[in-house]
Amino acid sequence: MTIRKKVTILGSGSAGLTAAIYAARADLEPLVVQGLQAGGQLTITSDVENFPGFPNGIQGPQLMEEMLKQAERFGTQFIYDNAESVELSQRPFVVRTSSNEILTDTLIICTGASAQLLGLDSESKLMGHGVSACATCDGFFFKDKAVYVVGGGDTAMEESIFLTSFASSVTIIHRRDSFRASKIMVERARSNPKIHWLLNTVVEEILDVSQGSVSGIRVRNVRTREVQDLPADGVFVAIGHQPNTELFVGQLDLDEAGYLITDGVKTKIAGVYAAGDVQDPLYRQAITAAGTGCMAAQEARWFLLAHEEAERESNSTQIPQAAAKHAH
Ligand code: NDP
Repeated sequence: MTIRKKVTILGSGSAGLTAAIYAARADLEPLVVQGLQAGGQLTITSDVENFPGFPNGIQGPQLMEEMLKQAERFGTQFIYDNAESVELSQRPFVVRTSSNEILTDTLIICTGASAQLLGLDSESKLMGHGVSACATCDGFFFKDKAVYVVGGGDTAMEESIFLTSFASSVTIIHRRDSFRASKIMVERARSNPKIHWLLNTVVEEILDVSQGSVSGIRVRNVRTREVQDLPADGVFVAIGHQPNTELFVGQLDLDEAGYLITDGVKTKIAGVYAAGDVQDPLYRQAITAAGTGCMAAQEARWFLLAHEEAERESNSTQIPQAAAKHAH
């Protein structure tokens, strides 16, 4: 089916849904291509306590459900499918999903980023029950607990330092004995007495799926091959994020890590905007994603207004010419 739209939004995390709320309230009847992980990263967290307006916290999936209802209420249309290809070389831009071709005057890209995970079955089963990929989101729940942080990059260092404000002990598990993290961050972590180190070590299993919460961690030293079970209350996986930008390779500018390069929320193509984690390697918060989603919807509206105005002006200068022609 071919669908014609003024505003199309790719992704339905907090950036995409906020863009939808703003575009819908501006009467632009936006279309959201939800993606197969509808609701984005918040759907894999449990309590969200740092989103303003919820003094008692809210469950991540519920927050996304509320945002979706709010976007729906003002006339957003949704397609539960992944975008399979986009053509941005001319307007209207084209988005193809498995069963639809969407022609759109503006495009807001909110395809997000996915936290890299270890790929263990126990990790996915205990996600939100002691396993987390975001210390800023979940650190608060680990007051006086023993936690482990997996990774050797800046995120692992930063999250470990952050977690020392809550946890009784933080142990960094890294598969090598040298670090990708900057020297200053490693030094900062090293000088923190609450931080311990397990180097040349990989996580084999997170325990205990049968209990439905984290009680320990099975690790293997890659040099000695020794395997041991250690007691743990929480495991933070901090091994990087992957922005979801494969669709735009060759059409938009990406940085070395694959994030979309934007000026504010503008991409290099007029009428194409990007908001949320897909263009943000730094803040990566639901509230910052929502903020940029709002900015992108405003930009799209201004773009459409400017074009409508330009079209009106060119029509009004053409009419007298046409009339003049008829007069002869
Ligand atoms: P990085 O890619 O820099 O680091 C990922 C880390 O995870 C590496 O140590 C890597 O190990 C390890 N890792 C990757 N895959 C696995 C796996 N399967 N099992 C075990 N370990 C694994 O990602 P970050 O998120 O740390 O940083 C991303 C970017 O953001 C960087 O450019 C960073 O500098 C920046 N950043 C900056 C901050 C700041 O300046 N305050 C804060 C946070 C991030 P190995 O080294 O062996 O490959």
